[in-house]
Amino acid sequence: MRDIDEDVLRLAYDMVDTMREANGVGLAANQVGDLRRVIVIQLPEEKEARIYINPEITARDGERRVEEGCLSIAGYKGTVTRSVWVRFRALDHTATVVKLRAEDVLSQALEHEVDHLNGILYIDHMEAHEKLEKVEPSDDASSDADESEPEVSAQTDSGLWLPDDDSRNTPASLKLK
Ligand SMILES: [Zn+2]
Repeated sequence: MRDIDEDVLRLAYDMVDTMREANGVGLAANQVGDLRRVIVIQLPEEKEARIYINPEITARDGERRVEEGCLSIAGYKGTVTRSVWVRFRALDHTATVVKLRAEDVLSQALEHEVDHLNGILYIDHMEAHEKLEKVEPSDDASSDADESEPEVSAQTDSGLWLPDDDSRNTPASLKLK
């Protein structure tokens, strides 16, 4: 298991570009039309993207309600139940086995992206009585950085609102892709 195919890496780096262009926290390969089991994740406070190949959630526990959006269901968000923590394993871009325990946004992102690889969208986790909520169109993703509105920070505990970045201070920027 030493080698990661160069082609897989190329796919992963392309995915990182796509994720960043969309101001996303994560992206799964099948969202860009490739069925290989690759996800990329970059939390807002992180300088580098994580590349995970053959990712697996190996354990999870707890329940919490979080808001979530997805590029595959653009313009909407919904509230879903996610785990409080997950244990996760994958290969990284150097073919090293990564095992970690994650909470908060990272846990949510891992569940969301691994779900994608398994053909599951967040709406599949919503209860029948729950509705998708339309997200107001964002002004312009390239607007100035100083505009983190308090109303947005109030939602940080949803795990997905990323108010500290110019392009991330509106509902349209719910980050999981
Ligand atoms: Zn998604």
